[in-house]
Amino acid sequence: RGPKRAIGEGVLFYNLLLSSNCFIHAIARGIGHVQGESVSPPTCVGRLKGPTSCAMEGALVRDYGQHLTHCAYCGKNDASSAHGMTAEDMSVQTYNALLDRGWRRSGTWLYKPCHLQTCCQLLTIRLEAAQFRPSKAQRKVLAQWRRYLQGGTMSTAGGSAACRHGDASTSQATHATVPGPAAGATTRGGSDLQDAIQALQEALDGATARYLAASHPAAPSPPPARFTQRCGKGKAQGSLGLTSAHAFVLAAWLRRQGRTGVEAREVAQALRTLLQRLPLGAEVEVAKGHLNFPWERRQSACASGTESQVGAVEPITHIHAGLAHSFERRLLPHDDPSLPETEFELFKKYQVHHHKEAEEGVTRKTFAHFLCSSPLTPEPFRGAPPGSCLEQGFGSFHQQYWLDGRLAAVSVIDILPSCISSKYFFWDPDLAHLSLGKVSSLLEIEWIQQARLVCPSLRYYYLGFYLHTCHRMRY
Ligand SMILES: [Zn+2]
Repeated sequence: RGPKRAIGEGVLFYNLLLSSNCFIHAIARGIGHVQGESVSPPTCVGRLKGPTSCAMEGALVRDYGQHLTHCAYCGKNDASSAHGMTAEDMSVQTYNALLDRGWRRSGTWLYKPCHLQTCCQLLTIRLEAAQFRPSKAQRKVLAQWRRYLQGGTMSTAGGSAACRHGDASTSQATHATVPGPAAGATTRGGSDLQDAIQALQEALDGATARYLAASHPAAPSPPPARFTQRCGKGKAQGSLGLTSAHAFVLAAWLRRQGRTGVEAREVAQALRTLLQRLPLGAEVEVAKGHLNFPWERRQSACASGTESQVGAVEPITHIHAGLAHSFERRLLPHDDPSLPETEFELFKKYQVHHHKEAEEGVTRKTFAHFLCSSPLTPEPFRGAPPGSCLEQGFGSFHQQYWLDGRLAAVSVIDILPSCISSKYFFWDPDLAHLSLGKVSSLLEIEWIQQARLVCPSLRYYYLGFYLHTCHRMRY
């Protein structure tokens, strides 16, 4: 939203907002036009400048200073106070630095709430993705999502409507989301442990089915996976986890089917690869054919950021075979010409149903301005393996979620060197029972966890502002 009225003089204090080893110089000019609204002219316009090595150099900004606007949350006029500017040619590093200091963006409009003056406190939420462990409620959402993809019916009233698409496509699906046994094993209750074991069992059975489909087609139903609890030895002394001799059972079973030369070690390696491709997947180790699932060591490894595996990353749009509903993610740049055609109708439906906006107020122009414009200059990421999360580099993107060939939701995100910032999310109101907002957030967190393998600086997931006084924003 553009500012309505300027208060005070815009002061060039970005050097205070940005890191101290960068200084910024701006040249006063004129002209003000923000988001289609006539406003007071910017107090200064200029390019951010710094030492030659400074990554923040080059962005063109128009500083509008501090403004009071109507507050969309409490409804008061001239009560919401923020500092605002428009920007172009901004590097992903600069925007990342601003985001870390409380700025957000709407299109090319950047703003930072002035907490001492404003009516409603907008607090930045960010999550350290590597530390994240899904709660019981979140694991339930994931389990429900997994059941839906596998063709089960939803328990809520909307389920039958959504499941009718299942019979149209029984051949492809992707990303059966599995909560790993990652949450603190020593603190969880018995039922949580059972949940984790059950989720792991489903994951391993699913991996087995995919392994057999790829390497031994026409094999009959394999024996189910079994686990036993284990205590770590050697370096892992004292740690808890689960272990499975499933690869031995499976190899012996395949040999009984007449498949000679099948070794438990190679079966275990194949299953491990398949398990690691699952979102929020379990950490899996292979030791002499045994599949081990450590808990505590995973936490300490994540905390110190020591993961260094490269290449074990699921392609974003990869499609697995074998589930009842097809699910695909497509990542497109914010200025991809196909976006208005593909997304506008869903955006309109969402704004009208969910936010009660007047239909005539939701136009293609507002859609383009709000979601398809960005001040960020895209930047490639060297070192991303083909098909990996960061193949398209840094910048502003639309992550589309397709269910059964139909656009189900869109997540507008900025992928930056140290974070993914979730800017906006809209979804099909007919699919409310699928909790797509929660599912997509969990998938995006998992995505950061995977992307960290090739880009260790990626740490945070920014979810937008938390607003305690507004129940919609109190997540
Ligand atoms: Zn307010």
